[in-house]
Amino acid sequence: MTSTETPSPWEVYGNWAEGKPLVVGPWSLGLYQPAPESVAYWEAVERRELRLPRCVRCETFHHPRRLVCFSCDAEEFEWTLSSGRATVYSFTTVHRDLSGVGGPTPYDVGIVRTEEGVHLFTRFVNRSEKALRIDDAVEVDFEELPIGFVVPVFVKASVAAETTR
Ligand SMILES: [Zn+2]
Repeated sequence: MTSTETPSPWEVYGNWAEGKPLVVGPWSLGLYQPAPESVAYWEAVERRELRLPRCVRCETFHHPRRLVCFSCDAEEFEWTLSSGRATVYSFTTVHRDLSGVGGPTPYDVGIVRTEEGVHLFTRFVNRSEKALRIDDAVEVDFEELPIGFVVPVFVKASVAAETTR
């Protein structure tokens, strides 16, 4: 890295391998510390790509941090580009900002089930003021937090289609 490049947030805030807790204000943001098995996931997210590990033997998709395929016990995975399409599996509305990084409230957080069958914990971005519902179609998008981390978020598919026209 040259001195003119902005260091990645991982360099600024430490990383899992160094054993440094990632803290912003009084809050520990362990979610954003890449463990060795999820570094490729977060590197893809920085490029605005949602990539999921797919078993090279049986082609089952997994959550980013799995080390062994639960279908066939294989230990080799290929980081495969997700369609980005999912449905709302579960969610709750947060009315008080506890993140330590600021941001408007209320907002929705919860779990999506991707087209590939993987469940991901996420924040929902509601750009339409229409209330989120279970089984709503959603699509991945990416947002950069004030501290520099890019995170995947999900937006209602109908709203995503309207904003890209
Ligand atoms: Zn497998």
